[in-house]
Amino acid sequence: GAEASPRAESEVDVKLDKAIPAVQICIRLRPMLQWEKSDGYTHSAMQLKEDDGTISLKEEGRNRQFRFNRVIGEERTQQEVWDMSGIEDVVGKVALGFHATVFAYGQTGTGKTHTMEGFNYEHFCGSAPSAAASRPRVKAKTTPADQLGIVPRAVLTLFDRVEAMRRTDTSAVVRVSFLQIYNEKIFDLLNPSLSVAQRETGGRGEEFAGLRLRWDAAKRHFFVENLFQYECASAEEALQHYQTGIANKQVASTTMNVASSRSHTLLTLTLARREEREEAAAPREVVSQLSLVDLAGSERSVASGGMGRSSTRFHEAINVNQSLFVLRRVITALSKREKPEAKNEIHVPYRESKLTSLLHNSLGGNSYLVMFACLAPADRHDDENLSTLQYASQAACIRNLPAVNVDPKDRMIQQLEARLATAHEYLLRA
Ligand code: ADP
Ligand code: MG
Repeated sequence: GAEASPRAESEVDVKLDKAIPAVQICIRLRPMLQWEKSDGYTHSAMQLKEDDGTISLKEEGRNRQFRFNRVIGEERTQQEVWDMSGIEDVVGKVALGFHATVFAYGQTGTGKTHTMEGFNYEHFCGSAPSAAASRPRVKAKTTPADQLGIVPRAVLTLFDRVEAMRRTDTSAVVRVSFLQIYNEKIFDLLNPSLSVAQRETGGRGEEFAGLRLRWDAAKRHFFVENLFQYECASAEEALQHYQTGIANKQVASTTMNVASSRSHTLLTLTLARREEREEAAAPREVVSQLSLVDLAGSERSVASGGMGRSSTRFHEAINVNQSLFVLRRVITALSKREKPEAKNEIHVPYRESKLTSLLHNSLGGNSYLVMFACLAPADRHDDENLSTLQYASQAACIRNLPAVNVDPKDRMIQQLEARLATAHEYLLRA
C-alpha cells in the first residue's frame, strides 16, 4: 500500500556494514525454578548445543532442529549471556551513528525481564552501580553487579564509548526515554506528573488516553508526542531514570492493574552529535538510537482460562495481543518478503499496532537487531517454546541494512556539496 519502505535509501552517505550481522537471534533457556522442581515439573527433552548454535525438539514424535546465531544454556550467568550475545559490539555501532534494537520475546515466565533488567540493583546497593562495578571479574554468582541484565550493561557500554568520544567531540549528547505500551496505550514511565496522574486515576486507568504516535516524514520514523526525554551526562544518571521508570511500572501494576506480563516496555537512548568533516564541508548531525524492549508474554492462551468475553481482562488480552499479533505478522511478512518470488509484493503491517510502528526501523529497516528468544525448561512448555523458536527462525530471515543516520537537512547539504564539486570540476576542465 502507501506504506513507505523503511529501507535505507541508497544515497551518497549510506555506509553498509558487514562486520556484524545486521540481524542476530540469541536463544536463552532459563533454569528450572525451585518451585517448579517442588511441583514436580519435568525437564523437556529439548537439546541445546551452544557450540553449533542448535536446538532440537520433538514435535509430535518428529525431531525438529533449529539453528541460530547463539544458543545460551540454562547455567549461564548474566555476565556470560552479555559476553556471548555480542551486544557490546552492537552498542559500539550505536556510538558510531547506527540504530540498534534489542528485544526479548517469549512466553511469560521464560526470563525476558530477568534477561533485560536483571536484578534490581537498587534493591541491593541503594543506588546505581558505578561503571567499574558492572564489569565483575568473575566473582561469586550473588554479587549484585553480576545480576545486571542487558539494559544496564548496554547503558554503561554506550556511555563508555560516548565518554571516549567526548575527548575529541564535545557535541555528543545522550537522551533517555522510557515508555510502556499497555492495551495499545502509551504511558510515559519517566513523566513525573503523569505517574502521579496515573496513580490518582487508580483502577480507572482506562480513562487515560495514552500518548499519541506521530509520523516524522523527514526522518521517516514514528515518534511519541510529548514523551519525556532526559539529557544524561553519565551512565549513572541514565540508570537513575531507568530505576525511576521501573518503579513507575510497579506503581502502575499495583494501582492500575497493568499486568507487566501483558505490557511492553521500551527504553530508548538517543545519541546526537555533530560530526566534523573535511575543511570545506559543513559538519553534519548524526542521530542514532538504541532501543531496548521487554515484550509482553507471547503465550497464545492468554484469553482463555474461563474469562468472560465481556470482562476487561478479555479485552486487555486481545489488545495486548494486537501489538504482539502484529509483531508476529510483521516478522512473518518480512521473512516472506525475502523469498525472491515475493519481493516487494508483501504488505508489512507496521502501522497496525503501536509497538510495530515504533519498531518500524528495527524490523526490515536500517537498524541492527538482536532478538532474544527466551525459553522455559519444562516439558509442559514445549508447545510455547516451539512457537517461540518458529518466530525466532522467521525473524532470522529478516534483512536489515544498517546505515549511519545523518540528519535529512545535512544529507541534502551533502548532496548539494557533491553536485557543486562535480560542477566545479566540470568548469575547471572546460
Ligand atoms: P518474563 O519476564 O519472561 O515473564 P521473568 O524474567 O519475570 O520472566 O522470570 C520469571 C522467573 O524466573 C523470575 O522469578 C526470575 O527471577 C526467574 N528467572 C528467569 N531467568 C532466570 C535465570 N536465568 N536464572 C534464574 N532465575 C531466572
Ligand atoms: Mg517480564
